[in-house]
Amino acid sequence: MNAPVRVLLIGANGRMGKAISAAAEADSGLTIVARIDRRDGLSGLTNTCDVVIDFSTADATAAVCQACAEHDRPLVLGTTGHTAAQKDSVTETAEKIPIVFAANFSLGVNALFVLARRAAILLGEDFDVEIIESHHRTKKDAPSGTAKKLAEILAETRGGKELPIHSVRAGDIVGDHEVIFAGRGERLELTHRASSRETFARGALRAAHWVIGKPRGLYSMENVLGL
Ligand code: NAD
Repeated sequence: MNAPVRVLLIGANGRMGKAISAAAEADSGLTIVARIDRRDGLSGLTNTCDVVIDFSTADATAAVCQACAEHDRPLVLGTTGHTAAQKDSVTETAEKIPIVFAANFSLGVNALFVLARRAAILLGEDFDVEIIESHHRTKKDAPSGTAKKLAEILAETRGGKELPIHSVRAGDIVGDHEVIFAGRGERLELTHRASSRETFARGALRAAHWVIGKPRGLYSMENVLGL
């Protein structure tokens, strides 16, 4: 049997960090060898891990990318809410190491990306498209990274037209995304609801297994899932 994949987890004390630790307990092919949070710094990021998973904060991303490139470690990046400059640091780093960068690691949301693209093409421009996303009241970024990605996918089918996104921040909602296609006399609605962070955590671990040994480059969850 192969030795378990060694993971270094950044943002370990957060909601996602805890969900990833819990999911890792159930995965005998993987072990978390180091947990890093805000006060720890990145000096603990060494060659003793096989892959780095980061679900922390957008402000940490440039330093995380630099440390991963320095130690030649692949990165699974789940953090959202980046500025254009922060995104550029990810793109530049992906010229040196493999990075899976996804606004959403759930299987269902990645299926939603595919279905929404297909629906937009089938229904055409006579249908108005609106995106609604709902999350817990402490989520830092709005709109969500997933809603922005949905808007990007749908805009590609409409000559780059910017699409409206409505954000709801309330209670403890884990994450809902809805695309409404409204035409004359009919309406199609595609909705995904995450009821537990376990789905993102299991997706991130799947990406961690997948990214090891891949050539340098920027990958999406659609690449991991082969969609
Ligand atoms: P959270 O606030 O509960 O946790 C973030 C953790 O990161 C905290 O423990 C915080 O102390 C730590 N942190 C802050 N700065 C740090 C630094 N410089 N170095 C190391 N650790 C640091 O947030 P969360 O709900 O766990 O979400 C974390 C991120 O993941 C957010 O950007 C969120 O939008 C994103 N997210 C992505 C997905 C996905 O599928 N891609 C799913 C859920 C959440």
